[in-house]
Amino acid sequence: MARSTLFSFLILFLFTCSDDEQVIKSFVNVDERLWPYFERFEEVAADRGVMVDLNLSGIVASLERFDQPNVAGKCQHPTPSENILLIDLPFFVNTTDDMLKEFVIFHELGHCYLGRDHREDGYQNGVCISIMRSGIGDCLDNYTKNTRSIYLDELFDPDSF
Ligand SMILES: [Zn+2]
Repeated sequence: MARSTLFSFLILFLFTCSDDEQVIKSFVNVDERLWPYFERFEEVAADRGVMVDLNLSGIVASLERFDQPNVAGKCQHPTPSENILLIDLPFFVNTTDDMLKEFVIFHELGHCYLGRDHREDGYQNGVCISIMRSGIGDCLDNYTKNTRSIYLDELFDPDSF
């Protein structure tokens, strides 16, 4: 009996250990609901040889109700030292498409972390070259599972800045 209890305990312990990889990294002054996207941003940057530590960036991020049509995210600098990323709360809560949420949050991190401006140009077929498009230009978004890596290559490519 004691042996089987120990065995169960070991099994549980092993599972607990393997679960550690699932633990989401925490980010200071960032709404917890945004943590998975912030961690993903660091990961896709690292995949491209760019070391990103968003905890060192000083970015303050929260979810707020904008009451502005067609605006899902903002990056604001009320003073030169402030770096504020805002995501529209209704957009975040009501959007089930995780790719779309990632698109908006990575776009704002493109401003707030990478310091990028908008890039409006498109391919010959009219599809946007960058997720840093403003959304009021002529190009069409096409951020999908198939195109994601191309857009992320562009996002972190210093030649794109
Ligand atoms: Zn923008």
